[in-house]
Amino acid sequence: CGIVGYIGYRDAYPIVIKGLHRLEYRGYDSAGIALNNKGLKVYKKAGKVSDLENFVKDIDLTATAGMGHTRWATHGAPSDRNSHPHSSGDRKLTIIHNGIIENYVVLKEALLAKGHIFKSDTDTEVLIHLVEDIQQETGLDLREAVRLALNRVVGAYAIVIMSADAPDELIAARKGSPMVIGVGKGEYFVASDATPIVEYTKNVIYLNDNEIAYIKRDDLLIKNIDNTIQTPYIQELELQLEM
Ligand code: GLU
Repeated sequence: CGIVGYIGYRDAYPIVIKGLHRLEYRGYDSAGIALNNKGLKVYKKAGKVSDLENFVKDIDLTATAGMGHTRWATHGAPSDRNSHPHSSGDRKLTIIHNGIIENYVVLKEALLAKGHIFKSDTDTEVLIHLVEDIQQETGLDLREAVRLALNRVVGAYAIVIMSADAPDELIAARKGSPMVIGVGKGEYFVASDATPIVEYTKNVIYLNDNEIAYIKRDDLLIKNIDNTIQTPYIQELELQLEM
């Protein structure tokens, strides 16, 4: 239901957790985070964002790239294992998702037949296995694999993907679910609405349907899923946040 991501020079965890609190008003049943801290670290729990904070309180969470999710379950009961992020079989890729992958049953059957092992009952997990599968089959880089996977998805989504092999990148995309990119100096934010972003930057890009953003701390490329490069339109936020 809620998404927040950060890549830059600051500590990602406090930004991500604060962002998840700002998104609590949307309603949710579970929360989770992924951080790139010497490999991909994923922590997730059914319950409140504060339960997740308690769960990770003794863990070293230092990282300059990370993302967080609040889930409102549509496929698979609220539980720790169904909470986002969801990871590929080799755990090198992880995804958070708002929305519904409508053709997940067909995709899942094909992936199961190819030996993919699923760890949740969600529609979301299918998408990250699909990306992994395309990478394995084609040898393409992650950017292309994500783009091709999204071309096979029917449904609505706002997603962010992180990879252990590309720790300096977030890949975000949307179709039918909102996604905002906050543009800073040497840092970027992503979120399902602007509330987690406003205190850091007023410059935002609203991602359009069928767009993918490849986000590095000092570089942003936006493509349509048909592979055409898009020119980002940076807007100034007028939203004022009550502290
Ligand atoms: N369909 C996904 C799930 O049930 C995402 C739900 C959401 O938007 O939070 O896990």
